[in-house]
Amino acid sequence: MIPTTLDWCQNQDKNDPLAEVREKFDLPHGVIYMDGNSLGPMPKSVFARVNNVVKNEWRTDLIKSWNTAGWIGLPTRVGARIAPLVGAKESEVVMADSTSVNIFKVAAAACRMNKGRTKILSEPGNFPTDLYMMQGLADFLGEEYELVTVDRTEIVDAIDENTAMVLLTHVHYVTADMFDMKEVTTAAHAKGALMVWDLSHSAGAVPVDLNGAGADFAVGCGYKYLNGGPGAPAFLYVAERHLGAVRQPLSGWFGHKNPFSFVDDFEPAGDIRRMLVGTTGVLAASALEEALKVFDGVDMRLVRQKSLAMTDLFMALVREKLVGYNLGVVTPVKHANRGSHVSLSFAEGYAVMQALIDRGVIGDFRAPNYMRFGFTPLYLSFEDVYRAVDILAEILEKEIWRDSKYRTRSDVT
Ligand SMILES: *Cc1c(COP(=O)(O)O)cnc(C)c1O
Repeated sequence: MIPTTLDWCQNQDKNDPLAEVREKFDLPHGVIYMDGNSLGPMPKSVFARVNNVVKNEWRTDLIKSWNTAGWIGLPTRVGARIAPLVGAKESEVVMADSTSVNIFKVAAAACRMNKGRTKILSEPGNFPTDLYMMQGLADFLGEEYELVTVDRTEIVDAIDENTAMVLLTHVHYVTADMFDMKEVTTAAHAKGALMVWDLSHSAGAVPVDLNGAGADFAVGCGYKYLNGGPGAPAFLYVAERHLGAVRQPLSGWFGHKNPFSFVDDFEPAGDIRRMLVGTTGVLAASALEEALKVFDGVDMRLVRQKSLAMTDLFMALVREKLVGYNLGVVTPVKHANRGSHVSLSFAEGYAVMQALIDRGVIGDFRAPNYMRFGFTPLYLSFEDVYRAVDILAEILEKEIWRDSKYRTRSDVT
């Protein structure tokens, strides 16, 4: 039995080894922020950093800043900061582009390395952009290529001698179902397929060991648990053993061996920078670099412990206090299969979430009927979790969600 009293929650907070990390975030007063899995909040130091980039590096030092402020080194510097969070070497990770674009680059590179094999394997209900990018890639590569999706429980059996690559999202964006990275990667390799992991809902939330799992490629998001800001650059990973041979089709000048030689013929950089395309968005990249400093000295095992304790608590409170409303918990109960958010299915989920947001509990809604709550141990407390469920209980009990103002859908849910 998981204790579900307010007393117990407050006691957990008192003894929380991560409690002081919350001070590094600039969270609005009175808000319980449970959407760090969609847009991380702003670490306090980002404000001064971006201000400095705009005021001094850009306005005063102008183009000199590419060298003097180290703008040119941002992709590899930020990559090196992300590497330990995903179990990779610094030289294997680089910050670049968006997650969608990175998926295309690494998937195309994987297909090129596995020529002759024409099946790209994923799961139905994967994050839409992952599937869309693979549909686009298969279409571009030629008629013989095909994206095949099979249920996650059948993925391993579906990998065969014609599978070029498997693209899976480690922690599912709706259910928080988490794959055993090593098991699936090993199964892919046994059939000669390459493995690409999307870590958008994993990086900064759960411990990830790309090297330990033997993964070939990975991509991930900078604006979710890494708190890089709206539309922050993404990252990608290439296993060291592939770095010498990997080629991706978007061979822009920042992927060139010597971008400032201005020669006509493309020659890829000798390291991870061959995965770059064009000029870095310096403002956004600086914000991400600064934001990542909140992870300095943070033990991801403690993050995982607190995340599981908080999601356990939330599920227990839902079971105890929200009986009889036809709510479904779609997130796995088993720890090994659970990421760091919890989704509840409810027919009127959209309106309920709007009512929650109106009362300072910010989560999000995912079609067709999921309310999603992110648990980010760096700034959420156990008391926050307790209070959030209290507010949810009131909304359901008084049917506050029936108010018409909660039922009009905005462009972004
Ligand atoms: C958030 C997310 C993305 C985002 O892709 P963008 O190119 O940044 O819009 C991609 N994949 C997954 C699994 C995600 O959760």
